[in-house]
Amino acid sequence: MSAPETPPTAEQTLDAEGLQPQAQPQPSDPFSNGYGFTPGLPGPATPAPDALWLVFSRDSLLLQDATFALPDGPPAGTEHAQYLGMQHLGVQHLGGEQLDGRSGTADREVWTARLTADAPDGLKFSRLRGLYGRVPDWLWVLGGYAYQIVEWDRTHTYCGNCATPTVRGDTERVRRCPNCGLSVYPRLAPAVMVLLTREHEGRPQVLLCRSPQFPPGMYSANAGFVEPGETVEHAAHREMKEETNLSIRDLRYFDSQPWPFPHSLMLAYTARYAGGEIIPQPGEIEEARWFDHDALPALPDRASISRRLIESVVGPQPD
Ligand SMILES: [Zn+2]
Repeated sequence: MSAPETPPTAEQTLDAEGLQPQAQPQPSDPFSNGYGFTPGLPGPATPAPDALWLVFSRDSLLLQDATFALPDGPPAGTEHAQYLGMQHLGVQHLGGEQLDGRSGTADREVWTARLTADAPDGLKFSRLRGLYGRVPDWLWVLGGYAYQIVEWDRTHTYCGNCATPTVRGDTERVRRCPNCGLSVYPRLAPAVMVLLTREHEGRPQVLLCRSPQFPPGMYSANAGFVEPGETVEHAAHREMKEETNLSIRDLRYFDSQPWPFPHSLMLAYTARYAGGEIIPQPGEIEEARWFDHDALPALPDRASISRRLIESVVGPQPD
């Protein structure tokens, strides 16, 4: 098991050989801006008239058909409305222009709900994952947060221990079983991503992998979920060994990103090649290859931290 690693300081942003720049969170990164979520409870008993509404049908967000703006209030048929807090979001980022001309955006309440009927006239459901770049970043991030809350709520209606209907907590975001006392909080699944680097015949290279689920031609950094009982760093070593048969060293933290599909928190690292021949793990990795920095394959889109992680090493890439 590897020693615990700590995030790099500003002085450590270049590695010992000066070859591997470590990017700091970028102001343009939709997940690093600190959108000021204040998901506090208890909330108001009823929504304010000017509250923002994020209404879902499964993984799709209800938006105005023509403008991709949020609906004006909850449509009929919404259920299980939940207060999300987020006053600071309003103060910091919800300018009137960003809200398509709405005014008085500071301190607006944010509510989320499910709609079990079809989208009303003038509105439509769009899958959240596909809305990146089509709605403002704040809305995409806020939608991801709201989606995770809605999904957690929807999938924990009954106690997993005794099957009694659960009830929402008043002062914290929890569902409790009135029969056996089991408490269920919104869950996160930590995952670790590692971009492996090496020098080969004088050329810097990165290891990129193809999952069978990837679009044709696309490669990315290696990633996997942290197992119970592991540190993130141990998971990084284990995942790389399992999926590519390679050993790593000099593991360095890069950045993290919430990934609400359905409830991951991705922790991204760089590392250096420490030995081994590539053997892709059947079923997990279709192909793993070393790529020169100037001969890269198709990369993940900019919504994912993997793109930033890769570009932090190889430099900006065209879309
Ligand atoms: Zn129970």
